[in-house]
Amino acid sequence: MISASHESRAASLTLAPRGEIRHDWTVEEIEALFALPFNDLLFHAQQVHRDHFDPNAVQVSTLLSIKTGACPEDCKYCPQSGYYNTGLGKEKLLEVEKVVEQARAAREAGASRFCMGAAWKSPREKDLDVVLEMVRRVKALGLETCMTLGMVDTDQAGRLAEAGLDYYNHNLDTSPEYYGEIITTRTYADRLETLGHVRQAGMKVCAGGILGMGEAPRDRAALLQQLARLEPHPESVPINMLVKVPGTPLENVDDLDPIEFIRAIAVARILMPQSHVRLSAGREQMSESTQVLAFLAGANSIFYGDQLLTTGNPQVDQDRALFVKLGLHPEQRESCVDDAHQQATLETALVRQSATALDTEASRLAYDATRA
Ligand code: SF4
Repeated sequence: MISASHESRAASLTLAPRGEIRHDWTVEEIEALFALPFNDLLFHAQQVHRDHFDPNAVQVSTLLSIKTGACPEDCKYCPQSGYYNTGLGKEKLLEVEKVVEQARAAREAGASRFCMGAAWKSPREKDLDVVLEMVRRVKALGLETCMTLGMVDTDQAGRLAEAGLDYYNHNLDTSPEYYGEIITTRTYADRLETLGHVRQAGMKVCAGGILGMGEAPRDRAALLQQLARLEPHPESVPINMLVKVPGTPLENVDDLDPIEFIRAIAVARILMPQSHVRLSAGREQMSESTQVLAFLAGANSIFYGDQLLTTGNPQVDQDRALFVKLGLHPEQRESCVDDAHQQATLETALVRQSATALDTEASRLAYDATRA
């Protein structure tokens, strides 16, 4: 016999017709999703996920910091901000050859997308020329390209698109209401404006946020509402768990319950059924069980390798082991003549548990440099 409480839970699931693409979610509707019994929420998210994706495929990206530290913004979570003394080593814009070398190593390790991040408010003209060359050269390796360079205007976005940039990452970070508690050197409207320029230029959008910064549950709902309002939805939605870096104002903020984090992944999956939801920064601090739940909740993208701008990422061996344990496989790129080769490369890497070839000396050096 079905109990009354079960019936009421089932009724609440009608809040989210399966797979419907909507841009008009209210915060109250999103809060109602968050409030569903955990099993119901995950079941619903998994159903939506299966309607749109191979449930066992995970998109794999590699991330490189191409300019590190001394950022003029004051993001309270970020060790790269020039406002805080975190002991992070600063690095000027990397040479193009160095970036290409890293991208090649990532490709050999099986990554399908190479993401490059620079700690800028926005790119200066002379730096943009170098960055455009990086895009062209990395693209020529057959990799998808993604960049995060801060705010870009219409002209800069157009030139990046022309150079072949596939994705531009620009996170909304948190809700509009909580934003001023985290960043004061730019506004929410600035963020949305850059995202508009990226879209206008024809690039794909990568936009998400960070959870566990002391925000209220309603802020998490409001952040996801802002992302779901974007039309079309961002193709990539990174959901980060705050990495508490000593020296930043958020170093002692209370931990977010991992179950709340998983709920946010599941709600993001339901709100944006066709987007890749990325399990992003903070993965190193997560238990294996939390990561497994994130995949079950609809996360289908990760950073692979041990570089994640200036915070760590689980060792590649652990990632390979987890993929094998869960029967996951890397998602193939949409358009690359080398797809079969790429797929074989990563799958071989995933099953050869003892292989250390992925951990290239080059990537280690770069990683160590960011932590120096
Ligand atoms: S998050 Fe980006 S913009 Fe903010 S301080 Fe860090 S590098 Fe600068």
